Amino acid sequence: MAKNWYPIIDYSKCIGCLTCYNFCPHKVFEVGSDGKPVVVRPENCIELCRGCQRICPVEAITYFGEKK
Ligand code: SF4
Ligand code: SF4
Repeated sequence: MAKNWYPIIDYSKCIGCLTCYNFCPHKVFEVGSDGKPVVVRPENCIELCRGCQRICPVEAITYFGEKK
């Protein structure tokens, strides 16, 4: 349960491959009407997990809560 940590998708980079959606076991993402993932359950995200960021092919994912 992480209110202080959840993914932010840069839609200018995202190609809608849904790799992140298919990977995350915690149902943080749903698929939006445009076919791109939407962060719908940020509270399900695991603090400091970077699983979806690592597998995104275009580096479109950053995190709310990460230090710059
Ligand atoms: S950081 Fe981990 S828990 Fe959070 S959305 Fe990505 S894969 Fe899921
Ligand atoms: S893995 Fe990256 S490019 Fe693919 S849908 Fe997720 S954010 Fe978009």
